Amino acid sequence: MSTFPTEVPALRTAVDDQARHVRSLKEAKTAKEALQPEILRLQQLKTALEAAIAAEAANAPKNVLADQRRSLEDLLKRRFVVGQAFEIYGGVAGLFDYGPPGAAMKDALISLWRQHFILEEGLLEIECTCLTPDPVLRASGHVERFTDFMVRDTVTHECYRADKLLAEHVTARALPNETNPTRKARLEQLVHDVDTYSQTELGAALKEAGVVSDAGNQVSEPFPFNLMFATQIGPSGLIPGFLRPETAQGIFVNFRRLLDYAGGKLPFGAATIGQAFRNEIAPRSGLLRVREFTLAEIEFFVHPSREGRHHSKFGSIRDLKVPLLTKKAQETEGDDTVIMAIGDAISQGIIDNETLGYFIGRTALFLKAAGLADSRTHGPTPQDSAFRFRQHRSTEMAHYANDCWDAEIWTSYGWVECVGIADRSCFDLGRHSEKSGSELVAYERFDEPKDIEVTVFKFDRQGLGMALKKLAKPAIEFLEATSDDARKAYAAELESKGFITIRVKPEADKKKKKDDPESAEEPQEVDVQVPKQYVTIATETKRIHGQTFTPSVIEPSFGLGRILYSLLEHAYYVRGGEDEARAVLSLSPLIAPYKVALLPLSANDAFSAILGEIRRSLSAVGVSCKVDDSGSSVGRRYARSDEIGIPFAVTVDFQSIENRTATIRERDTCTQIRVPIAEIAKLCYDLSNGNVMWADARATYPEQQQSASDSVGRKE
Ligand code: AMP
Repeated sequence: MSTFPTEVPALRTAVDDQARHVRSLKEAKTAKEALQPEILRLQQLKTALEAAIAAEAANAPKNVLADQRRSLEDLLKRRFVVGQAFEIYGGVAGLFDYGPPGAAMKDALISLWRQHFILEEGLLEIECTCLTPDPVLRASGHVERFTDFMVRDTVTHECYRADKLLAEHVTARALPNETNPTRKARLEQLVHDVDTYSQTELGAALKEAGVVSDAGNQVSEPFPFNLMFATQIGPSGLIPGFLRPETAQGIFVNFRRLLDYAGGKLPFGAATIGQAFRNEIAPRSGLLRVREFTLAEIEFFVHPSREGRHHSKFGSIRDLKVPLLTKKAQETEGDDTVIMAIGDAISQGIIDNETLGYFIGRTALFLKAAGLADSRTHGPTPQDSAFRFRQHRSTEMAHYANDCWDAEIWTSYGWVECVGIADRSCFDLGRHSEKSGSELVAYERFDEPKDIEVTVFKFDRQGLGMALKKLAKPAIEFLEATSDDARKAYAAELESKGFITIRVKPEADKKKKKDDPESAEEPQEVDVQVPKQYVTIATETKRIHGQTFTPSVIEPSFGLGRILYSLLEHAYYVRGGEDEARAVLSLSPLIAPYKVALLPLSANDAFSAILGEIRRSLSAVGVSCKVDDSGSSVGRRYARSDEIGIPFAVTVDFQSIENRTATIRERDTCTQIRVPIAEIAKLCYDLSNGNVMWADARATYPEQQQSASDSVGRKE
């Protein structure tokens, strides 16, 4: 070992050289006795490299954010807010279970979302299946394009998401050691543009930055990896399908029924909340990048014209100021977020349209209601705002999209996309119409009838019959039934190519069907070429009273798990107590897992009747509570309820027996008031729904001095 280098780069080279040497010995079928010492040397070099990497990490400047995250994660695990799924079997990366407080918090977040969007916006909520047949996700483009670029360690074959590895390598390894300012700026540029790279550009960037795997080995060229979990539906295995990677498709495929339910009128919005599944390549960011997560998605259907994108409630958010990171700022001026009224952003052409702006505003209000502030007193770093809206750069946006914004929340991992808000034009409905053969369109009646020019086909039926036989009639019916736009496109194709190819079902064999209707097989669709010589293309004037059109859609898509984790990071702080520092989750009462902790002062039977009475009165008004009648001191029990974010603690003490009052303590100020038992449930209801502020409750009821044993320190 003494001959090994000590520096990480030199050790990496030594490992690579030795690995190559061992490979060549193996290829040359070298005798075992001669090979064994070389393999041993390779193993020793790898161990030395790992030790050098660990030493480098230990000497690196301390990352306060990561330290805070670790203690939050400890808390979440210890109190079973969340746990690694299948832990007793060793766990699976990217899969987590929510324990009782976590499940209650998520439930509270979903309730808030339902209230804020489904109820307030009058959306049509549906629930759709997670199992999706292949053709649906082919039509949506997921089978072809729902990919991330992956690289493999060329020695260990470990997989990495190429863009993440590039960003991590540059940020953690390359930049801290770079002294040349030009090279430093170039490395920063690589990280800045990482989301926009094509496969080839990413490969070039990985090489340019000298990216290696965690073990210090070379990595492969990047290649696309589809993130969907494939499966078969039914025992025959003949229907291929996938676990849905997003919930939106359920809304698109039900569009006709939803439009009908909405009375045939636009605009209208539908929403769905449910699980989505993505086989993330290397899910390392804790709860932020997981393989199964809850999405809450809205599809708001509008007329495709610009007027169709006006929103009747826009006035309610016109003056709302939100932090915006525009694409222009990202492309030309550096990452400067501006605080701007949504109305101004639209009039200056920054946000494309009112409906998009409306949902950006409503999302900002939702994030605030959930507990994210414009400015923060605690949390990972003192950023001005806990969230911002980042516009997609032109290189990030799908070709059909008009404009897209991500709501990003600041976390210890940096800015994290938690909500995507996109104007997807008519792409989704158009694709499903085309691929399913069901027209997913809406109808508009004009105020006045209009005369329009339409393309008509006249067929030489006899000639076509001779040429196409059983396919002639279905081909004519198909072409007569297509939309005028489609006929125009076919006409152009006929002119240019001399034929068109369409897909039709041949006529069933009538005789066979009559003789034996049971066994006559349903004919399958086939491609058929219709030659130009049998079709005359003409233009006619037609009077119409209305027309069908494919609606456009604005899609706000919320990753509820990411939002919840970000809320937890922002809510977490540690305060000094009498004897030790104690962790607190300063969650909004709306998101808190239980609204009230209910404690008897001690294990005295005299308290239990009153405790039961308060508990019943709380549940009668729908306020959740958690009774803690363990033997610990009241201070310790307060600390336990603070840790999982319970905002109020009601304590039954000796005075409760004497004068039918109990104390209510607030989690963040640790102040207490004394309240008649008959008023506790109503007050707790109002406090936890934000109808009454704690300061007002303190002004109404007498203050209760804390005893020394109650004290657990206050929030600064
Ligand atoms: P996307 O369809 O990729 O825009 O994702 C929509 C939302 O889903 C994002 O804004 C995230 O909040 C959430 N999301 C996407 N991927 C994951 C993941 N692997 N784990 C947790 N949440 C995710």
